[in-house]
Amino acid sequence: MDDRIIDRTAAGLAADIREGRATSRSVTEAFLDRIDAVDGEVGAFLHVDRDGALATASEVDAALAAGEELGPLAGVPVAVKDIVVTGGMPTTAASKILEGWIPPYDATVVERLQAAGTPILGKTNLDEFAMGSSTEYSAYRRTANPWDTARIPGGSGGGSAAAVAAKMAPLAIGTDTGGSIRQPGAVTGTLGAKPTYGSNSRYGLIAFSSSLDTPGPVARNALDAALLHEVISGHDPRDSTSIDAPVPPVAEAARSGASGDLSGLRLGVVEQFAEGAGAAEPGVLDAYLAGVDQLVKLGAEIVEVSCPSFSYALPTYYLIAPSEASSNLARYDGVRYGLRSGDDGRRSLEEVMGLTREAGFGPEVKRRIILGTYALSAGYVDQFYGRAQKVRTLIKRDFEATFEQCDALISPTTPFTAFKYGERTGDPYQMYLADLFTIPTNLYGGPGISVPVGLSDGMPVGLQVMGPVMGDDITYRVASALESTQDPLLADTAPEIEGK
Ligand code: GLN
Repeated sequence: MDDRIIDRTAAGLAADIREGRATSRSVTEAFLDRIDAVDGEVGAFLHVDRDGALATASEVDAALAAGEELGPLAGVPVAVKDIVVTGGMPTTAASKILEGWIPPYDATVVERLQAAGTPILGKTNLDEFAMGSSTEYSAYRRTANPWDTARIPGGSGGGSAAAVAAKMAPLAIGTDTGGSIRQPGAVTGTLGAKPTYGSNSRYGLIAFSSSLDTPGPVARNALDAALLHEVISGHDPRDSTSIDAPVPPVAEAARSGASGDLSGLRLGVVEQFAEGAGAAEPGVLDAYLAGVDQLVKLGAEIVEVSCPSFSYALPTYYLIAPSEASSNLARYDGVRYGLRSGDDGRRSLEEVMGLTREAGFGPEVKRRIILGTYALSAGYVDQFYGRAQKVRTLIKRDFEATFEQCDALISPTTPFTAFKYGERTGDPYQMYLADLFTIPTNLYGGPGISVPVGLSDGMPVGLQVMGPVMGDDITYRVASALESTQDPLLADTAPEIEGK
């Protein structure tokens, strides 16, 4: 066993707990102590549930002592993005409008974590309502990138990625609407996977863009992510878009990928990803191309594919996502949840609603509500929202056509590495570019994974693998094979945060 519990993989910790070399309580305590020591510097958590996590850990230890058979991650703690509702535990979506809200129920993802015996360490920071790429739009705190604390940890799930990168949690849950699991993964040197849309329940995710939102795992390696993926996946009758089909065998795929043999696999490189203002910066491209060389050495064949509609993915997303958001966020009216502002007994309901929304939403959320309301308004709906839906269909067709020529697509995850605080908040378009390579997959609905591939100027770079709908196992196989070429794993080479 390594010296420190927090350095161990989730799979390793699970085996230690199952086979009696460690208790869930000691493991959970080690991560809680790490949070105490370094989260002042990193800022990954909005809420830490020490008592709840230790109570679950003790239950797992008691069940194991009684000889019960538990699941493959039993006893291994997890951090959860604060847009996933947790019954009895504050859930804010990093917005002032939900300050103080204690949900009366658990999301399906959370129910499944509990059924699997994974203690929940707490809730992680994000951009307000998951709108952003740097976690700078959180109404509560700034999250640092553990590789360089002057830089952003990506977003919207910067808290989950930073928690795993700084070893405050072996595993975390994120949500991905346009890249919010994969992009933070890429810039923090962690692995983030967006599962196939509909294969992971949205029940209990605070809705941003319902046709795109997908919960998924964040980890330090492919097998750990796959084990968590299997815990949370599968059909849920409470989500009308949930797919009723067997979960792809992602853990098996991660194990088989570790042998490093990709012979017979065809990987497509999208011609359009190399074009235009958003093409990857040179250092990112170099790290990515070195990764492609490794994949070729492992036996993969590279084919060039053309996806002409991908050039329209960003504008398409920025019509569809804000449109759905403007509708989903209409529920925050000062009556049913959280904040109420200006209710002096004399003002009308409309005035109180307006004052509440004025005070409760931050600038990016307001920008999206205004954009979405405009795109859906009578007279413009066909021109904007309707046209975006048509282009979305073309993007789907491009994906389907490429998967006749190859098994998966690869690209850099992001065009640039983690930037400094404040560098892009002044210009929304510069911020939106962070998701240039991740957004097409969301519009299509297939799986995407970001695996650490190398460094550019000392900052991590991710390689993205995109698969066909329900082909999540292929993406894990490729990610795991790429990891097999790294010793030590890139995620394990992050500079040490000393803390107190
Ligand atoms: N950065 C993208 C946005 O701001 C994606 C967010 C996400 O995936 N939740 O919308």
